[in-house]
Amino acid sequence: MISWRRWRRISFLAFVFLFSMSTSCLYFIYVAPGIANTYFFMVQAQGMMLRDNVRTIGHMIRLYTNKNTTLNGTDYPDGSNSSEYIAQPTTYLPDNFTYAPNLPCPEKFPTMKGPIEVNMTEVLMEEVELKFSKYADVQSGGHWLPKDCKPRWKVAILIPFRNRHEHLPILIRQLVPMLQRQHLRFAFYVIEQTGTQPFNRAMLFNVGFQEAMKDLDWDCIIFHDVDHIPENDRNYYGCGQMPRHFAAKLDKYMYILPYSEFFGGVSGLTVEQFRKINGFPNAFWGWGGEDDDLWNRVHFSGFNVSRPDGDIGKYKSIPHHHRGEVQFLGRYKLLRYSKERQHLDGLNNLKYVPEVTLSSLYKNITVSLSPEQAPIPDY
Ligand code: BGC
Repeated sequence: MISWRRWRRISFLAFVFLFSMSTSCLYFIYVAPGIANTYFFMVQAQGMMLRDNVRTIGHMIRLYTNKNTTLNGTDYPDGSNSSEYIAQPTTYLPDNFTYAPNLPCPEKFPTMKGPIEVNMTEVLMEEVELKFSKYADVQSGGHWLPKDCKPRWKVAILIPFRNRHEHLPILIRQLVPMLQRQHLRFAFYVIEQTGTQPFNRAMLFNVGFQEAMKDLDWDCIIFHDVDHIPENDRNYYGCGQMPRHFAAKLDKYMYILPYSEFFGGVSGLTVEQFRKINGFPNAFWGWGGEDDDLWNRVHFSGFNVSRPDGDIGKYKSIPHHHRGEVQFLGRYKLLRYSKERQHLDGLNNLKYVPEVTLSSLYKNITVSLSPEQAPIPDY
């Protein structure tokens, strides 16, 4: 006969065993695919870099052994993407260029010098507020506009947010001087998700868009992750004929585009383009897929995506103290029906109740999100 005490011990151990098994399973289902994803991109990137190096070495050997070949501006290693090797034309305006308050600001200001320092050290928001409100003329809500010429674009920067208080001041500290050098009119909107549902980056962008448009007739909207810090001030945050993918080269992917349809990190659309594609999808709960769906929407609506040249689209990612959000495992199924869902789910089926507060450098829009707030009829 097994004694009662022994029974208790055995059932306790069985409970601990089953509990740890199920948490490990959940970990693998939700988190491991993200790690595997990143690892896969790294391996791919290393392979690409290796191939490029071999090609360049081969090209150099041929140059030295073939007397008839000359190295000029149009010689590129065979089969490589020539745009990577072309020295960027210096069409930036000269330092002594003068502008007029009644004329549109040029896109290529002499103050935009190229690579900029990236400071990842943590800083208090109060310090950043003091610096910019006092010395850089930034108004409440993070509004600023140039006075020496007419800004070419009125840009609302939308930042989806949850539990990243240490990242926000780092990003704003980098963006304010960069956007001022670009002579854009701008303001920041931080859209913060509360409640117990998984993070919904896309729905937060839709909420941010509707709220920002109540403030001003913005004409260009930038969708910006809080942990992506631009490394080049020539990455012009204005919009264009086509939707733009700014974050083309991320340090976490060894500065190589992970796949040609990649549209994550930082992107920008005119208000007209964003309305035409019916905004972001609301149905992506958790990490992944919503940016791929946006790419599909953009293409189904007859647009292409433009990207900055060469190293201009470089970004550093702030390392996370806590590992990412849960994976959205249903994303592959939803992506198969992007076209059918596009005009059923987006800006047109979104309901929410925001709590809006204004601070010195941004407007905070807090929302609790759940699937019932964006009902989708059967398709
Ligand atoms: C996800 C995207 C993500 C990309 C790069 C893809 O598998 O679906 O949302 O941006 O990986 O991390």
